[in-house]
Amino acid sequence: MQDVVEKVYEQVVARNRGEAEFHQAVREVLESLGPVIGKHPHYAEDGLLERIVEPERQIMFRVPWVDDAGQVHVNRGFRIEFNSALGPYKGGLRFHPSVNAGIIKFLGFEQIFKNALTGQGIGGGKGGSDFDPHGRSDAEVMRFCQSFMTELSRHIGPSTDVPAGDIGVGGREIGYLFGQYKRLRNSYDAGVLTGKGLAWGGSLVRTEATGYGTVLFAQSMLATKGDSLEGKKVAVSGAGNVAIYAIEKAQQLGAKPITFSDSSGYVVDEAGVDLELLKQVKEVERGRVADYVSRRPGARLVTEGRPWAVPVDVALPCATQNELDADSATTLLRNGCAVVAEGANMPCTPEAIEAFQAAGILYAPGKASNAGGVATSALEMEQNAGRTRWDFATAEAKLTGIMADIHDSCVEAAETYGRPGDYVLGANAAGFTQVADVMIAHGIV
Ligand code: GLU
Repeated sequence: MQDVVEKVYEQVVARNRGEAEFHQAVREVLESLGPVIGKHPHYAEDGLLERIVEPERQIMFRVPWVDDAGQVHVNRGFRIEFNSALGPYKGGLRFHPSVNAGIIKFLGFEQIFKNALTGQGIGGGKGGSDFDPHGRSDAEVMRFCQSFMTELSRHIGPSTDVPAGDIGVGGREIGYLFGQYKRLRNSYDAGVLTGKGLAWGGSLVRTEATGYGTVLFAQSMLATKGDSLEGKKVAVSGAGNVAIYAIEKAQQLGAKPITFSDSSGYVVDEAGVDLELLKQVKEVERGRVADYVSRRPGARLVTEGRPWAVPVDVALPCATQNELDADSATTLLRNGCAVVAEGANMPCTPEAIEAFQAAGILYAPGKASNAGGVATSALEMEQNAGRTRWDFATAEAKLTGIMADIHDSCVEAAETYGRPGDYVLGANAAGFTQVADVMIAHGIV
């Protein structure tokens, strides 16, 4: 790292002690900025780098709620409003026991550059709670969401901060959160949350968008080599929204996804994933991946780890941060994997990324390849503001266009800064320069 960025990084570590994931996300961006600052030294002036790594506002609050047995629980709620240079803070809410300030900060930081890459005028933020919705009744989830929104409602608004889903927050949770917001404010501000139900302001394609976008990005990378996904074997991790719709789009493009996973293990289905069965198990029954195996002859369950030892051409990590390490990367490469596109946020460790880049394969960082979700959230905001609804084909065509544009701006930025084919540098440089130019225009704020 250059001296100037090294100093900023050291300050981040000193000021945010113990927040390893946040340090990791900041380091990756700062490392990419060497060539950018080399060419345009003004980006390191006026404390711009120091300002961009410091959230504009951090909200942390108590979330008390009562379970079905009458027992009181206390969780912790977070909303990190990281950067509003380009528009209202925008980013999901994550409900998972692993959530803490460092996790939300890393996600919020990534979101700044991801959202900039979409070109849609949205700032970066993230929130969530250490609440675990798994095994909770609908009534318990509702009471939790109502308590969470009672505090969050003071801080959000269609022009201020627009949360959405992430791990553990889907249509059900957004519904309870919206209901409580509307009640507290006495105002039908549809644009305050995205990922809403179709009957009350949601957008077609929002559910599919992150997974679809990740696969479209992989297809664009392959196209630069005159290749495509047709006939390729694909390993997918995760079995949530992102994974399911990555599998769907991969199948539509003629590829053969053969794996998926959850915290109980991973499934290998050499015949190709039966998508209808997977949707039934995960979306309808809220079950475990083992429930798929018990109904699908030929599929097998491996109760530990992720599917990276399965020989494939393409890997799509769609579960969570740091789920693909250097050993897994080496195994994937040895088995001939030539494309990795991140559907999750920061799923590959820095050592895994280094291995992919050293091998010269196509590797896409999540802030570029998983931006389809938030991009379609911005399309939802656009429909809400215009009090209109687009059909599926219109929304999907817009998503496809946005993903192609993100791909091309990464390629272009990588070339401009002397590292053609480096999608990490490309995404960070293209995202950073857009935010930085506007921060400069807005003065020292
Ligand atoms: N949580 C998603 C992400 O990581 C979507 C955020 C949104 O739609 O606002 O980008």
